Amino acid sequence: MSRLLISFLCAGILFAGEPSREMKVQVYCPRNQLGALAGQVLEFYEVNDEYFIGAVNENTYQKLINDGYRVEVLIPDMHAEAVKQCPGNDFGRYHSYQEIMDTFALIATTNPNICHLDTIAVSPTGKYVIALKITQNPIQENHRPRLEWDGTTHGNENIGTEICWYIVRQLTGNYGTDPLITYLVNTREIWIIPCVNPEGLINRTRTNSNGIDLNRDYGYAWNQESGANVPWSQPEIRGLRNFFTHHPFVMTMTYHSGATAVMWPWSYSRIATYDSIAHSQWCQQYGSITGYPAYQISRGLYECQGTSTDFYYGAEGALGFAAEVASGQPPPQNQIDTICRANWTASKQWMISGGYGIRGCVIDSVTGMPVKRAIVISEPTGWMVYTDTCGWFFKYLPPGSYTLKVFADGYETKTISGIAIPNDTFVVVNAILNPDTTAPITGYKITTWICTDPTQAGNTMGLFALGRRDSRAMTLTSRGSVVLELSAPIINGPGTDFTVYSTTNKPCSVYVSTDWNGPWSFCAYGSGNIACDIAGAGINIVNYVRLNDAGQSYDLDAIEGVVLNAPALVYQSHTILDSPPGGNGDGKIDPGETAGLVVNLRNAGRITATNISGILRTQDLYISIPDSIGYFGDIMPDSVKTNISDRFTLVAAQGTPREHNALIRLYLIGSNYNDSIQLIVPVGELRVTDPIPDNSEPSIYYAYDEVDTSYPEHPTFEWV
Ligand SMILES: [Zn+2]
Repeated sequence: MSRLLISFLCAGILFAGEPSREMKVQVYCPRNQLGALAGQVLEFYEVNDEYFIGAVNENTYQKLINDGYRVEVLIPDMHAEAVKQCPGNDFGRYHSYQEIMDTFALIATTNPNICHLDTIAVSPTGKYVIALKITQNPIQENHRPRLEWDGTTHGNENIGTEICWYIVRQLTGNYGTDPLITYLVNTREIWIIPCVNPEGLINRTRTNSNGIDLNRDYGYAWNQESGANVPWSQPEIRGLRNFFTHHPFVMTMTYHSGATAVMWPWSYSRIATYDSIAHSQWCQQYGSITGYPAYQISRGLYECQGTSTDFYYGAEGALGFAAEVASGQPPPQNQIDTICRANWTASKQWMISGGYGIRGCVIDSVTGMPVKRAIVISEPTGWMVYTDTCGWFFKYLPPGSYTLKVFADGYETKTISGIAIPNDTFVVVNAILNPDTTAPITGYKITTWICTDPTQAGNTMGLFALGRRDSRAMTLTSRGSVVLELSAPIINGPGTDFTVYSTTNKPCSVYVSTDWNGPWSFCAYGSGNIACDIAGAGINIVNYVRLNDAGQSYDLDAIEGVVLNAPALVYQSHTILDSPPGGNGDGKIDPGETAGLVVNLRNAGRITATNISGILRTQDLYISIPDSIGYFGDIMPDSVKTNISDRFTLVAAQGTPREHNALIRLYLIGSNYNDSIQLIVPVGELRVTDPIPDNSEPSIYYAYDEVDTSYPEHPTFEWV
């Protein structure tokens, strides 16, 4: 804790020299007379016909009194109050990575009713990228529009971290007292990622410690500008990708510095976005508050590929924004508060607008259950958003009349027209989908698009490759490639399992994988429409399809997979039972232990897998299997079953190396099934030492809890 005490002392010295305290006041001044005060009030929190609540300095306070206004002081010293409510806050200077980690952990522990801190990525040298969720009851799943702000993707542009921190301070410090902020926190799910690039912040570099530009590492319209030879090359950006692809956002804002501008996609091309009316309106509003010019990135700044905005908008459907907040690199410390205040005031308007437009739940007409993986397209604009794990979707739309089209695997497409969206509010439209067991499996989301030449792509875009054939094609560009996440797994059956449809007759090769980032198995090569049998790739279930252009800019219309009425068993998770005397009961198999193994299998197919037995085999030198037979029984479609009543037994040899991953093959045999899947069983435990010891017991690092381990890139934290 000593570091925090030093921070307080520094803050005292800094602020002792300042001429004026900042006060929160209620001033009885009619709305129509506010114009005269606008230049003197630092910020308006609430305005009505009778009075306003705002922030003023002492000079303005005296002037208001002298001018005869009735003024009530609500908070005499806002900085002191913020420090009291939110320990560790001292502003007007740049903060270190350790201060950010310490303070965000403290903010989360101090405000558990509205804050939850999560770790979403680990940098190459083991620094954590954290995300603070701010919403009422943050542990619950809430049906609220998600809005995101992040900073310091470029490590030497850490004014973005200060803005993020300022936003957090405003939300947590005024929750429960300021009606607007209380309303926003209760009705929006706000995520703040204060530092995307911890190593860059620590080292004062644009890149991370691998020398990679993280804002060229995103895999939408990517093209080798990052310094790496593949997209998604860095763990920070893979972590962000995993986070965002599982949490659909209405809007995202990423802060940079080096210029002043507020901008919308695309970066890679000068073609307009389908949401360009909303994009430009939002940016003009932000610019009117901050003074930043508003424009499309490619037109106002420069064209660049592999950026966050293009991924968030192009692949995930969020209104992706970026702001360059100051021309100084970094701006001098005495400008920090002014920059933060302006961006906070503009961001607060976005928090309001972020709840407008349309929202609703997509529901199965037979079961009444939410449909988790639906695509919702509004006409106009024609762009897509995705439903979340509760079946909810949120989309900002300017006022007007709209039609919604809702697509989901295994359902008829639903069209709902005549939806009127009024000004400054939202409408709720639920979509009830009828099952259609014959509809083909199709492309659901763009995972990666390597675009070697945006001019070849022209006006085409990733969206055109999603869903069924529609004569609209996405042009891959010469030697470019695309990875599509499928709406459901394609299962190996007799003959052709899926067909890649093109609007032209150019060549392309087709690869398949169970995972978004490979490894890729070659499946087919052909021109035009390409019939693919996944048996040739040596795997039985495909979740992702990758197309590599053969040099002529393949035009991808759609992927349509055969819906096989067959079971398809996929690995879900496994549990190690290592209670004494065979083990130490920590749920991991350690060297020298004997443990039970229970596997959770999910049936991703459409009919029941019956009478399933499992047989374990391994060639691993350190693992032996005294009981290799387990029984699962019948596994219904979309359900999970374990062999808990007839578990396997594993023994790890005494000399097994630390953090050894044992490869084990599970053969699954039943009345209508015969397949095998690979299990990876870690022996021992990967442990990471607390990077910022705080010498308290129990540790205050609430931040790294069991929720974090749901993200694939995470080690186990030994101080949890
Ligand atoms: Zn930047």
